[in-house]
Amino acid sequence: MLKGKTALVTGSTSGIGLGIARALAGQGANIVLNGFGDVDGPRAAGAALGVQVGYHGADMSRPAEIEAMMAYAAGTFGRVDILVNNAGIQHVARIENFPPERWDAIIAINLSSAFHATRLALPAMREANWGRIINLASVHGLVASAEKSAYVAAKHGLVGLTKVTALENATTGVTCNAICPGWVLTPLVQKQVDARAAAQGVSNDEAIRQLLGEKEPSMQFTTPEELGALAVFLCSSAGNNVRGVAWNMDGGWAAQ
Ligand code: NAD
Repeated sequence: MLKGKTALVTGSTSGIGLGIARALAGQGANIVLNGFGDVDGPRAAGAALGVQVGYHGADMSRPAEIEAMMAYAAGTFGRVDILVNNAGIQHVARIENFPPERWDAIIAINLSSAFHATRLALPAMREANWGRIINLASVHGLVASAEKSAYVAAKHGLVGLTKVTALENATTGVTCNAICPGWVLTPLVQKQVDARAAAQGVSNDEAIRQLLGEKEPSMQFTTPEELGALAVFLCSSAGNNVRGVAWNMDGGWAAQ
């Protein structure tokens, strides 16, 4: 379905980004990976699906590096047809204890990086009259939780950016939508499970049960594979007129 297209997925060396990159590669899209840590594993996973795989190690908190990544993608693959703004970090603390440099890093990586990558991707998408921009927001783009001020502010901002991007391109073949997962058991969330287990002196399984029980009525994690399938749908022709949506996949979290 996506043969001949190129998808750039930020933060795709791990977790949700890797799941989405795999799903898009499974539909034939060439992939540009980004993120820190192990790159060989994700690269091999894409190559095994028979697509071309590139990588750029831009730090998404740095606009100049984002510009270099977008230039690399255009230079290597011709154009970015699908942009998935996924890279993100978390920090958990009450506002009065929240380190200002953590606030700045979360706003830069979880929100401003999507603005920069989007502004750089749009001209070629508009020229081709086809493009898909998918912003990995969160259920925290729709509702709040205590101790996540920067994350909730960034994700609400990302949902707002999604709507503006959709509107500015509404008469073209370029769509923009947000995906809003509830809990997904990635390294980002395992850190929160570990912190809870340590603070309460409970097992990993009990910490997970408490975490899900507080917020997610289904008592199930959403998986990177399920999120990948939603991204594939948004890239399909059936997604042509899905514009400016913040689509939660959250086990009923935001329905409460
Ligand atoms: P993860 O920690 O598994 O992966 C994060 C990815 O981002 C990694 O590839 C990492 O290397 C990369 N990254 C981090 N900082 C970066 C930087 N400065 N520059 C470039 N890359 C950087 O996390 P995840 O859970 O897969 O999260 C992915 C996205 O999904 C994030 O935006 C997160 O907010 C969002 N999300 C996650 C959950 C969840 O429950 N896990 C829920 C809702 C939304």
